[in-house]
Amino acid sequence: MKNFSELGVEQSLLNAIQELGFENPTPIQEQTIPVFLETERDILGLAQTGTGKTAAFGLPILQLINPAARHIQSLVICPTRELCMQISRDLASYSKHKHGINVVPVYGGASIEGQIRDIKRGAHIIVATPGRLMDLMKRKAININEVNFVVLDEADEMLNMGFEEDVEYILGHTPAEKRVCLFSATMPKAIRNIGNRYMNEPVEISVGKSNSGNANITHQYAVVHAKDKYAALKRFVDFNSEDIYAIIFCTTRMETQDISDKLIKDGYNADCLHGDLSQAQREKVMGRFRNHAIKILLATDVAARGIDVSGLTHVIHYHLPDDIENYTHRSGRTGRAGKLGVSFTLLHMREGGRLKDIERISNIKFEKVLIPSAQDVRDKKLLAFTDTIINTEVEEGVFDAHVMKGIESLMALEKEELLKKFLSLELRRFSVDFANAPDLNINPNERGGAREGREGGRDRDRGGDRGGRSGEKRIFVSLGKKDGFDIRSFKDWVAASSNLSWQDLHVDVSGVYSFVDAQESHVDAIIKSLNGITYNDRPVRAEVSGDRRGGSGGGERRTYGGGRSGGGSYEGGRRSGGGERPSYGGGERRSSGGERRVREGGRSDSAPRSEGRFSGGRRSEGRSGDSRSSEGRSDRPRRRED
Ligand code: AMP
Repeated sequence: MKNFSELGVEQSLLNAIQELGFENPTPIQEQTIPVFLETERDILGLAQTGTGKTAAFGLPILQLINPAARHIQSLVICPTRELCMQISRDLASYSKHKHGINVVPVYGGASIEGQIRDIKRGAHIIVATPGRLMDLMKRKAININEVNFVVLDEADEMLNMGFEEDVEYILGHTPAEKRVCLFSATMPKAIRNIGNRYMNEPVEISVGKSNSGNANITHQYAVVHAKDKYAALKRFVDFNSEDIYAIIFCTTRMETQDISDKLIKDGYNADCLHGDLSQAQREKVMGRFRNHAIKILLATDVAARGIDVSGLTHVIHYHLPDDIENYTHRSGRTGRAGKLGVSFTLLHMREGGRLKDIERISNIKFEKVLIPSAQDVRDKKLLAFTDTIINTEVEEGVFDAHVMKGIESLMALEKEELLKKFLSLELRRFSVDFANAPDLNINPNERGGAREGREGGRDRDRGGDRGGRSGEKRIFVSLGKKDGFDIRSFKDWVAASSNLSWQDLHVDVSGVYSFVDAQESHVDAIIKSLNGITYNDRPVRAEVSGDRRGGSGGGERRTYGGGRSGGGSYEGGRRSGGGERPSYGGGERRSSGGERRVREGGRSDSAPRSEGRFSGGRRSEGRSGDSRSSEGRSDRPRRRED
């Protein structure tokens, strides 16, 4: 594989991408950059979002721009405002050390006068959505008679959105001797036609179905009744709340808004993005999502186009998309830049056929998972809580005489009693009726929707890299993130230590401990290879999860030893202290990942108190229920942009 320098990228650009952490070119970059720099050919690229195509065309374009020539030399046309802004931002960051290049984004929904002023100030590269560019051309506010390069990005999406005529109009007003570079995630006839009409024997580049082939993405689904979908979504989110950063895809704008409203009302840190929002509202939501002020973004396919957010832990499909290829588009937003991600689908019984179509056409393997029980959720949250306690640094300064008095009164209690009281209190914060919360999974063998019985606590979803497959056992290991592990490195380490392959293992890495799920036949080998060894001077304990209870049998009760805490272990079972409370009051919940409170089963508590966490600000911009009245069933509008 060649590096960027060997592909011919100049030093100023190399410096910038090095600062961005680009070490090696992605396949599309490796194939595209030399064609751009060393030939005069047009390029027809089959590539999806997330493959690095912006740099694939952006770097050579920036390199070939002459900053001294003060006219528009390159035109990048893309379907949405978000993508337009994203590409402009990317080009600006790549050219950080190459001075004198002006990149101007022009898109609908923002003041055209401001954009005209920006163009007049001198633009070398225009990044544009088709409608706005055409508008500017008709007003004679832009001159594209001298462009050398035209890039059509996400061409299939532009056609889907009804921009075909606009794109043709624009191309028809560019000089004949320009070069054209077209990227598309799919290659329908209409795109080939544009290729034939406006390109001259293009070099065809394909990086395959990169997203579907992305080994970093785990594709999961759970089958639920339609009426339970929202409850199942909440369970899934609750179970993963420690570090969730997700986009939830909905089908229509109305659904997007409704689910978002419900989640916000239920105390989740969520917001939504769809075509009924104003440009200012969208930008605000995107900004908040990008800086993690919002952890869960509900979006329609169209609104999510061009969102480039790194580090998504999950893509959740509240419904499968109409278009099979959209599934790979959606899921390709997670599992980027070497990180692991989960693409999770909430499925109705009747949608099973569509899942099979996706498997066949996109070459994806789905694994069925179960929606976690309320008890699973509670166990996980308590683990996170105990984890937080173990990792809390004690600040001696705060222990003045008054505080010490409080401590003294607590010292009168036995250690175990104190800890039980402590955890009971925490449990009350989870406003979940664990004992009565229903199992939300459907047993596919019992048509008519009979509930599937749980086989102990091992039936669980895998919102993360988590076990639960039949015949698997769970092993507790006393190492975790504190020891420098993440899922990938922990899996590598366990695989290497026990001489097994990645496929044999599923892991869940927490702060000071982790779990390994593996087939029963591998369990001894794993425990033998790990138990008793030392890792970075720490003795490692590995045992079948639950064994410390002294033969409790079955997976339902698990003992999660804190390892270091000496007595701080928590017995996560139905019968453990506080677990059977019929209900919990809805006090404010602070979980370690957590800016939210759990309210299971539609418990109607008071509205969230902590305004700052929720999107109060945006709502005051006047988004109201009537914005939905124009809602159609499909969120595939024509000419959405302007
Ligand atoms: P794109 O397909 O252009 O939207 O890029 C997807 C993501 O990959 C963006 O966050 C880029 O910053 C990142 N990226 C692009 N090229 C590279 C590279 N060579 N190495 C690492 N990350 C990259």
